[in-house]
Order: sequence, then C-alpha cells, then structure tokens
Amino acid sequence: MKYLKEIDEEVYDAIKKEEKREEDGIELIASENLVSKAVMEANGSVMTNKYAEGYSGKRYYGGCQCVDIVEKLAISRAAKLFGVKYVNVQPHSGSQANMAVYKALINIGDTILGMRLDHGGHLTHGKNVNFSGQDYNAVFYRVDKKTEMIDYDDLRQVAHAAKPKLIIAGASAYSRTIDFKKFREVADEVGAYLMVDMAHIAGLVAADCHISPIPYAHVTTTTTHKTLRGPRGGMIMTDDEEIAKKIDKSVFPGIQGGPLMHTIAGKAVSLKEALSEEFVSYQKQVIKNAEVLARSLEEKGYRIVSGGTDNHLMLVDLSPKNITGKAAEEVLEMAGITVNKNAIPYDVEKPFITSGIRIGTPAITTRGMKEAEMRKIAGYIDYALESIGDERRLIAVKEEVKILCEKFPIYK
Ligand code: PLP
Repeated sequence: MKYLKEIDEEVYDAIKKEEKREEDGIELIASENLVSKAVMEANGSVMTNKYAEGYSGKRYYGGCQCVDIVEKLAISRAAKLFGVKYVNVQPHSGSQANMAVYKALINIGDTILGMRLDHGGHLTHGKNVNFSGQDYNAVFYRVDKKTEMIDYDDLRQVAHAAKPKLIIAGASAYSRTIDFKKFREVADEVGAYLMVDMAHIAGLVAADCHISPIPYAHVTTTTTHKTLRGPRGGMIMTDDEEIAKKIDKSVFPGIQGGPLMHTIAGKAVSLKEALSEEFVSYQKQVIKNAEVLARSLEEKGYRIVSGGTDNHLMLVDLSPKNITGKAAEEVLEMAGITVNKNAIPYDVEKPFITSGIRIGTPAITTRGMKEAEMRKIAGYIDYALESIGDERRLIAVKEEVKILCEKFPIYK
C-alpha cells in the first residue's frame, strides 16, 4: 500500500489499524468473514473504474468487454454452485437484493409476511424503520416461546389471516435449520410468492450443509460476504424465467445505476473458491466449531437459545449470569473478542440493551481454528464476563487472545 501511504496517511493508518485489529482479535460476529487475498485483489482492481449500466450484451456504455467476462463468470459459477437457472449478481448489498425482489414482484402497500426482527428476522423483512415496513404492510411470524424455534403453526395462521402477497423465510439470528418446504406449502395455500433470504447460510447451502431453498422458493436472495466468504454485496436467484426478467429490470434500472464491477469480480473469485472441496470441508468445520463452542458455553452455565445450533451461529442468553448483552459486548471487546449484543426471543430488555449476544464461527474457522480452540475461546469469554470492571484481568485475557491469534494468522 505504498501509494496509499504516500497520498493519504490518515486512511492508510486506519487500514493498518484495522488489519491489526483483525489479526489480533477473535472475530465472532456471525455475519462476518475473512476474504482471501485473491478476492481482495479482484475487489481492489481497475474494474472499479468501469461504468457498465445494463447487462452483458445490452450495456449502455462502450468498453464493457472485460467486465462482461467477469459478470458472466460470476453468474455461471453461482448458477453451478446453487443449481439454479437465473442469477443477478449486481445488487450492491443484501438489502438492495431484497428491495429489488419486492419491487419486482409486489406493489407498494401490499402485505408481506416476515420473521419478527426481535425473533431473528432482518430489518428488510418488514421493520417499520426500514423501507420494507414503510412501503409495504408488514405482518410477522414468530418463534415458539418454549422451543424458541420457528412456530410454523403461527406462520400458517398469520398467513391465512393476512393473505400476504409475499412470504419471507430467512433470518439474521436464528440457529436452527429452516424448513423451506413448509414455507412453500404455506405460500401456496395463500397464493403468495416465497422469497428466501439465505444471506446468513448461503455458504452452508453451497456446501450442502443446509437444505437448499432453490427448489422451494420462487426467488432466493443472499449476501455474498457472510458464510459465502466473498466481497460485500448481494445476489438474486430464481428458476423462473418470467421472474428473472422482472428482477433484472428491478435491479437496473429500477433501483440501481452502474454495477460495482470490481465487487462483481470479487464475487466471481469467491464463487470459484466456493466450488472447491476445501470450501465444503470449511463449512463442515464452521458447523462443528459452532456446536463445540455452544456446548462449551453451556457447560459454563450460559443458556443457548433453543438449546443449541444447527448452523454457524448461536444466541447466548446471559440472563442466568445477570449480565446484559450490551455489557457483554463491551467487556468482550476489551478482551479482544468481538461479538454483537442481540435480543433473544421474548427478551425483557430493550433492543439497545438486550439479554443476549450472537456468536458465529465463520471468521475464526477461516483462519484455521478448530474444536480445541473453541474450548479455549469459551474459557476466554467466561473469564472476561466474570471480570467486568477488572481491567487487569481483561488485559490478561486480551494477551492470551493475541497469543492464540498469532498461531492462526489471516494474511501474514
Ligand atoms: N438479509 C439478512 C438475513 C441479513 O442478515 C442481512 C445483513 O445482515 C441482510 C439481508 C442485509 O445485507 P446488507 O448488510 O448487505 O444490506
């Protein structure tokens, strides 16, 4: 980064500090991952210079022959990876992928049915502070109070009562396998489209570690930067030609202008990586690591929401320890461990306080950590949470965390 250092030392310094933060800390944010150097190179390439409004063969700008190559590669690789016919790789983000689908399939004011945000859903699934809750009439399904798993009876009841035009399956903080077949049955019963937002689990789906939504959903959206381990961005998939045409129009010119061709190049590279055997082993390890981490925390007296995890994440209820999610997030940060506070289902605390934290294993698994490290990490978490207010003990954990991380370098 010698040019950057010369031209803009402030940005250079911030990037260097971020590099160090990532290398020295345990990253447990479930929606994050660490891309390969190859993805980063593509993402930081000259393709950022190119305007390419439109689609391959139908561009509004000249000089698109090279960016066409990468967009076609990204599309064909995603199609192969997920076994789907039509892919749009242009959404700038997961939120824009969802917005494009709503605009393509339903009208402003129509009813949509998504998962409650405080039960694990996403902002774009109908929250009132988001376009999805402002432009559409959003109703919600929930998780069962006892099992803390999706209440499919409630889903069916709400769907029959509200007659949504679109049902959304998928979540940001849900640790169990999602039954897409059941979702489709309910959608068919009420004549709704089914959109699956598989942002969190796309990598698991790609590696056959979670049931695929593709055979059940009319349309599937995803981010590319979570378990899928690509650059930040979104993607939309469908097997239906008519829906595919509507979605292409909805993305461009509907809600976006020029696609981020450098990001699409990064997406293409990460999709090639995702087609490898190594990626399948990686996803299996992500799940194993989550299982071991959940069990180890449980052994230390933490309650895991729904009693465990089937995927890359877990929600930890801290109320048995009388700690809030906010306090835990802060103290763990001091110990070099990054998590996010998260509401647990039927939380009694306010959304900015919460009773829980969300923990995910994609990033630490990418750097090569396995079961033994998960047990260590559970120990660090417990020790740090028992050291609230004791700076000396927290510094000691941070030192241990750093020593562990040095054994699993990311980019060095
Ligand atoms: N959908 C789900 C399920 C998510 O968890 C997220 C992000 O966390 C998104 C969509 C939005 O993705 P982005 O942040 O790229 O807009």
